[in-house]
Amino acid sequence: MSVGHAILTARPHDKPSFLIESHSSQLIVSLIASFLLSLAATQSFADTAGEAPASLTHALQLVSSDRMWADIRTLSGPEFNGRRTGTPDDLSSAEFMRQRFLDLHGQRPPSNDLGGVMADTLPGLTRMQSTSVTTTTIGDNPFLQFALTPGSPPDRIGTDYLPVLDSPSADLQAPVTFVGYGISDPAGGFDEYAGLDVRNRIVLFLRGKPERYPKQISHADKVLAAHARGALGYLTATGPILNAYEARRGVTGRPSAFYGLTAPARTIPGAWISTARASALLRAQPSGDDDHLRALQQTLNESLTARSVGTDAVVTMRWHSAQQDGTLNNVISILPGHDATHQDEAIVIGAHRDHFGKQGGLLFTGADDNASGTAVLLEIARVLSAVPAGLKRSIVFVSFSGEEQGLLGSMLYITQPVVPLRSTIAMINVDHAAVGNGRLTIGVTGAEKTVAQQAGQEAGLADRIDVFGFFPGGDHVPFKEAGVPTITVVSGGVHPHFHQPTDTADTVNPDILSAAARYVLAMVWRLADAP
Ligand SMILES: [Zn+2]
Repeated sequence: MSVGHAILTARPHDKPSFLIESHSSQLIVSLIASFLLSLAATQSFADTAGEAPASLTHALQLVSSDRMWADIRTLSGPEFNGRRTGTPDDLSSAEFMRQRFLDLHGQRPPSNDLGGVMADTLPGLTRMQSTSVTTTTIGDNPFLQFALTPGSPPDRIGTDYLPVLDSPSADLQAPVTFVGYGISDPAGGFDEYAGLDVRNRIVLFLRGKPERYPKQISHADKVLAAHARGALGYLTATGPILNAYEARRGVTGRPSAFYGLTAPARTIPGAWISTARASALLRAQPSGDDDHLRALQQTLNESLTARSVGTDAVVTMRWHSAQQDGTLNNVISILPGHDATHQDEAIVIGAHRDHFGKQGGLLFTGADDNASGTAVLLEIARVLSAVPAGLKRSIVFVSFSGEEQGLLGSMLYITQPVVPLRSTIAMINVDHAAVGNGRLTIGVTGAEKTVAQQAGQEAGLADRIDVFGFFPGGDHVPFKEAGVPTITVVSGGVHPHFHQPTDTADTVNPDILSAAARYVLAMVWRLADAP
């Protein structure tokens, strides 16, 4: 990525002046932007801050948490089987969304008075956008066992371990070597594999990286390193010491569902194990005491000195996984803007619909993640389609698939946007919007944070929002990287069921859901109706 820069927009399709563009590091962006924008652009909102237009006030009253909750129950119910990307449940949930949008927005072709861009690019207002995708299913009854003590029982799936969801089949038994964070970077002076022979062993590495390690490192990088060194399999676990972000999000020691996103030809079977099991494994070593893993992690974090160690623990990993070709389906619906000079411009509101489906015999229903954001998306579509005058700019609703499998749906949209990205004023992403402490976390890139605060005031939520810069992970990322300003809306606080089979509709909080929807409504209103 290039060095960050900021400009006030001055393009053929002028964006509202409070938006800036950014392509990477936010530091320079925010320095320049805060200077320029404090001088000029935000002034246009100074008079109106806190006062919602009457039409918005009315629209905010139309938001119904009952309807959203009903949609969450449906989407996380047995009918959709966890909405896994590329499966028949991807298609059936997409059809559900398409039908809802058709009921709301109709399927009339774009009218002649729509601007050139819209008329050129729209065969219809509601449509699917699809691509082929490979999916992996972990078969029922997987088996994993630490032989820490003679006759110890098999570990429990979901509680003690979970196969990584795109792991190859496993049928192996080997001793474990702890390799710290699993980083092999001799050139950077930090090689946790230095002097180790992990051939025919299983490696155990912590998730994340020491904060002092300056480079980015992905899970896939770590698996690649383990594979290159001849390891047969891997285990990964959250360390006992959480970083600030993990603590804020309430990351637990439980294994979570996720895709490793490793190259099929250079991967090995892997599982996420609980922090408790990882600690037990190190405690069982001759040198181990109760807090051995914590001590090792602390040393790694503080001194960036490799602390790898072979153990006597033998682990058995056994499961069957099957790859299948399938189709990923985004669902897109457009609500055209009414203002002749602005209707070629659009605000994208996105929420991913996909979740993990059934894996290893466990059903992941994904109520908070992200039937909640999907329900907000539908509710905003309902409310806006009931607004008689409409908004100046067009609204593009996108129900993404493939988010959990590496943002595949939003990356697909970026390559085939229904409104050109240069005319896309902003992308609002709603994810995990129904659980937590009652506050909303708002992540903003490419726009002034004051916009986020003003939308909060207009929604009557000024004292319930926390505005940050970039929020890591989610379907807004490809938009940000394409230079589109993004606003991410996530419910604040701990999400205790994150990527767990327990993320079910009964854990959803209607008040939080309603706050998220009202916030998104105020934000989209502000962006779409700006002068
Ligand atoms: Zn998720």
